[in-house]
Amino acid sequence: MRLVILGGGESGVGAALLGQAKGYDVFLSDRSPLKATYLETLQTAGIPFEEGQHTESLILNATEVVKSPGIPDTVPLVLKLKALGIPVISEIEFAARYTQAKLIGITGSNGKTTTTLLTYHLLKTAGYNVGLAGNIGDSFAKQVINDTFDYFVLELSSFQLDSMYETRLNTAVLLNITPDHLDRYSYNFQNYVDSKFRILQNMHLDDTFIYFQENEPTRQELARRKPDVYALPISLVTAVSPGGYLHDGLLSTRFRDRSLSIHSAALPLKGPHNALNMLAAILAAQSMNVPDQAIINGLGTFQNAAHRMEPAGVINKIRFINDSKATNVDSVFYALSSMNSPTIWIAGGQDKGNDYSQLDGVIAQHVKALICLGKDNRKLIDYFGNKIATVRETQDVAEAVQIAIELGQPGDVALLSPACASFDLFKNYEDRGNQFKAVVESIILGGSSGV
Ligand code: ADP
Repeated sequence: MRLVILGGGESGVGAALLGQAKGYDVFLSDRSPLKATYLETLQTAGIPFEEGQHTESLILNATEVVKSPGIPDTVPLVLKLKALGIPVISEIEFAARYTQAKLIGITGSNGKTTTTLLTYHLLKTAGYNVGLAGNIGDSFAKQVINDTFDYFVLELSSFQLDSMYETRLNTAVLLNITPDHLDRYSYNFQNYVDSKFRILQNMHLDDTFIYFQENEPTRQELARRKPDVYALPISLVTAVSPGGYLHDGLLSTRFRDRSLSIHSAALPLKGPHNALNMLAAILAAQSMNVPDQAIINGLGTFQNAAHRMEPAGVINKIRFINDSKATNVDSVFYALSSMNSPTIWIAGGQDKGNDYSQLDGVIAQHVKALICLGKDNRKLIDYFGNKIATVRETQDVAEAVQIAIELGQPGDVALLSPACASFDLFKNYEDRGNQFKAVVESIILGGSSGV
């Protein structure tokens, strides 16, 4: 059994180690140079590999191929493998064969990381023997070599779902579907919807499916498919039961005969999008029988990952918030919806074909100024130029913060929530958020505003 792995990142190297442990003849191939740590891992394990190229003669003789989610299905090598009838699967699919653990899978265009980390935290706080994997942290494959966990919470991107076939999730969460990554789906939104719905494949009648009922593409697709699962809607407008909803600051859930209501005001996650993420995580935890008190404790002690509505500091009583991970319009919609002070909105970067009309209402309600932070700000300026009273432009994050200070009044919020990718001016969204935080911090500390 020859297992070929395409892509030598966290998931590929993990799959290589698992394949070796399970007795496969493993070969790993990466078209780019490998990171030093992964190279060393492969060498230490004695796993054959190549980097900087794909040698077809060493790949097309595979029994099965594990492909990194970063490699599109349409590249010639993958097309050749498929034409030869060689199964091409994701690392998640491969690893899932080797675990007895119960699986919770979480997908959506936005909110995956937050909801995955929170669900993991709720199970962990309850004392569950739980692992965290998928699009986050250590590879799933590496963690099932000894299969010591009883539960896994998996963050699943559509690319991972695309190469999953047999894996059965015991609980699945679909947070929302909004246009994203369409370049990988032939610019056909339905293809992307279908990809997200793969999360339901193989689920049984008593498995739990949690979804956001106000997301129109999800609602329509569910009406068409009528899946045979225990389906639980979450909602911001309807008192769904069973399911979960937010009403008057109260998060209420019902899972089979269990009900729970929790006040959200004192919880660390803020905003309507996070109410949805919390409702999904609570129901997912309930589906695994996590006791109420552990859920309440876990919600109170959760710390989200950086760059997601992260407080960055206060200057002249203006609160700076780093939401650099908001790289599409929908996430900005929720960021702006959760504002309850006049907001100076810092946005821009590499446009992904954005349609800003979704923001008209929240802009009128909350935004007093827009600071465009991108190499080419024309599209933002054209759209918002006569919708927002003050629009300024810069290519420098330190200057963006200075302009926010200049325009701000005590009590205002300066929100970096870009709606765009970061690659025009920054290495990635983390770099953008870190630079933003560093500027704010240096001003607070009385230093220069440079980074
Ligand atoms: P993902 O892993 O899907 O990219 P994250 O949890 O990293 O999701 O959040 C990405 C961005 O989307 C952040 O700006 C966050 O504030 C916003 N966001 C989080 N949850 C939701 C949601 N349920 N709906 C819309 N936007 C969200």
